[in-house]
Amino acid sequence: MKDRILPFPRASALPPDRSAPPHSLRARLPSMGLPEFERGWVWLAGAGPGDPGLLTIHALNALEQADVIVHDALVSSDVLDLAPHGARLIDAGKRGGKPSPRQRDISVRLVELARKGHRVLRLKGGDPFTFGRGGEEGLTLAGAGIPFRVIPGVTSGIGGLAYAGIPATHRDTNHAVTFVTGHMAGGSIPDNVNWRAIAQGSPTIVLYMAMKHLDRITAALLAAGRADDEPVALISRATTKDQRVLETTLARAAADADAHAIAAPALIVIGQTVRLRAGLDWLGALSGRILDADPLGERAAQQAV
Ligand code: SAH
Repeated sequence: MKDRILPFPRASALPPDRSAPPHSLRARLPSMGLPEFERGWVWLAGAGPGDPGLLTIHALNALEQADVIVHDALVSSDVLDLAPHGARLIDAGKRGGKPSPRQRDISVRLVELARKGHRVLRLKGGDPFTFGRGGEEGLTLAGAGIPFRVIPGVTSGIGGLAYAGIPATHRDTNHAVTFVTGHMAGGSIPDNVNWRAIAQGSPTIVLYMAMKHLDRITAALLAAGRADDEPVALISRATTKDQRVLETTLARAAADADAHAIAAPALIVIGQTVRLRAGLDWLGALSGRILDADPLGERAAQQAV
């Protein structure tokens, strides 16, 4: 087993920003040891699910210094607006159906840009290592001898749920959660996913990229014994101003997604934790929704005992 301890951070730290007010976040950033983006490096960063407030400080630091930003279609325009004026934006968006650059071509492009001496920010929606193919890109960079750094992001399966008022785990509903992709690289339903085992072993299931095959996935889960009336939430464009959440059931989810024209990107949450939304939809509450302090009906049940 390899056991190498690398110096951290490897890049040199940024000099203090003397123009910033002394107590501002900006002035304090240098003391956090944020790295300087060196020429010829690639930073593989997550931009979070959409709301720019969910960027990490490392990602913001990367955006400020990058001279080339290679981004996905999932990275919101609000986030890209934070790029410096001189930075070159390259859209490497891969959208199902439409012609899009191949993954291999994107990885090769990153190597070429780094070899030209650019500071290359590879910016992905959510987290780069969660259904983001960041691992493949990192391996190509490693193979080509390009130095790189990975900046994790808030994955939509956590952050998007939180903005819909759905905890990924909750003591009274689920002690485990499973993240699953509903789409294979070739575009079909993943046949290397054991839907039966997931249906039987995971109380809460969060599906990414599953809109296209939702009917087949829900059918597989029902066939494996999940209940027709199990709560399901479809969360479209989570954390953006276009966020929409549709609550439905496992049996009705695919038909309801069509009927309500739920747009991609969307997450599907299956499990009792969805019921907590009645009490935790803090975004809805901002626009007047009244929250239910007992969404699981526990107090009522206790009183009945
Ligand atoms: N790396 C990303 C996931 C990329 S796969 C992450 O960590 O979030 C693309 C899938 O992510 C989409 O099909 C959708 O299921 C989900 N997704 C990403 N951003 C989303 C958003 N803002 N709202 C809803 N779903 C989102």
